[in-house]
Amino acid sequence: MAHTGNLTPEMDLKPWLARVVDAIRDWEASWGPYPPHPSLQVDPHELETALSRYLERLRGNYPFFHPRYAGQMLKPPHPVAVIGYLAAQLINPNNHALDGGPPTGEMEKEVVRALAAMLHLPETTLGHLTGGGTMANLEALWVARCLHPDRGVAFSREAHYTHGRMSGVLQLEAVEVPTDAEGRMDLEALEAVLRTGRIGTVVLTAGTTGRGVVDPIADALPLCRRYGCRVHVDAAYGGFFALLAHADAPELAPDTRRHLKAIADCDSVAIDPHKHGLQPYGCGAILFRDPTVGRFYRHDSPYTYFTSDALHLGEISLECSRAGAAAGALWLTLQVLPLAADRGLGPILAACLRAARRWAALLETSEVLRLVQRPELDILTFYPVPLTSTASAVDAASQRLFQEAMQDADDPVFLSVLRLRTEALRHRWPTLQADRPEVRVLRSVLMKPDHETYVPHLHERLEQLARRIQTATKA
Ligand SMILES: *Cc1c(COP(=O)(O)O)cnc(C)c1O
Repeated sequence: MAHTGNLTPEMDLKPWLARVVDAIRDWEASWGPYPPHPSLQVDPHELETALSRYLERLRGNYPFFHPRYAGQMLKPPHPVAVIGYLAAQLINPNNHALDGGPPTGEMEKEVVRALAAMLHLPETTLGHLTGGGTMANLEALWVARCLHPDRGVAFSREAHYTHGRMSGVLQLEAVEVPTDAEGRMDLEALEAVLRTGRIGTVVLTAGTTGRGVVDPIADALPLCRRYGCRVHVDAAYGGFFALLAHADAPELAPDTRRHLKAIADCDSVAIDPHKHGLQPYGCGAILFRDPTVGRFYRHDSPYTYFTSDALHLGEISLECSRAGAAAGALWLTLQVLPLAADRGLGPILAACLRAARRWAALLETSEVLRLVQRPELDILTFYPVPLTSTASAVDAASQRLFQEAMQDADDPVFLSVLRLRTEALRHRWPTLQADRPEVRVLRSVLMKPDHETYVPHLHERLEQLARRIQTATKA
């Protein structure tokens, strides 16, 4: 099997990185010579020694790049993003303010426009990049509080924990809405919450971090509007799949498409290019449909300023210093891997979805592994079938398979563990004895297109290990 990852023969980083270093050196030279200060000199031998130790320590990472790593939301950035990041990093512009680096500031506006267009939000959408999804959601909740200072926020029980935590930071009342068996917000329960009149903004999740399901956005929207509520979508993980939804891609179920398309009608959206946008960490984004919310960021500016094209990034962000390199890397990436359904990002995302479908089909016919539910996006949940049908046995078997798969010396498989309410399993397995309220199952985020051809191998490996564990447990 060919070597894959960031350093493939087809996409050799070496000459590109050399080209970047040369180009930045040329640019620096154009500013004239000056005497370098001796305090900045390092001893090359010391560096060599330290670098050796550093590189050795980095080998202790899990192989995020490899399809055998099918655990958490982790993968290396695309080499193009690395090239783009390095070039700007050598200059180190700060996108806090336009004069911290005009070119990457301009690029940030361009990529934010591209993200808004991908989601079919209006051209007047106001937004900026953030350090990540947590900051993006914090800004959305902060604006929610500015607009409805006397009302709280509601989000589902399976929303990312950041919403509960950030509501605490903002001292916003937070109401957790129950979910259905598969982890989507229950709209009857939502309506009961809205009837109290205490909620100003409802947070819906497009791609929950645990099970990767999309809340029923299209159906929740009219309900929220009826109660005078705003809607924020946490699309940190799943937002990029809107690209395929708007193209009616067959890899997405019709309802999933409908709900992802409805993001276009929501008030704010958090989306993470450092998850499905091929970027290194430090690249989230927040988008607001109403550009006049920019007034909250700076009270002494007339808000019309923020609707003009002369938008000043530092004035519409809670964070101050931010890497201009993050905007540069995303900009360069989108030039060659555009936000399109038929080229660039689309085919990458579609392959991830097909990988999940393919593995789910194998799991549905397996005698030793069982699917928790059909995957909606590219996140799969399953568990080894235990000898006794109790929640405790499922929990113990999952934990054991997780450990053994990872520790296998010859052909390891890296998964993650997810805690679910036992009820969620009983939905498809009614005779399961609920001898504990929660149960750990296995979870795989298949966010690399390479998984598409690799999942039969992952499945076979895990079946072998699960059988071996069953036999050992019997003995
Ligand atoms: C990852 C994630 C977050 C948090 O974003 P960070 O970039 O890790 O700060 C929030 N919400 C959802 C749905 C996520 O998947």
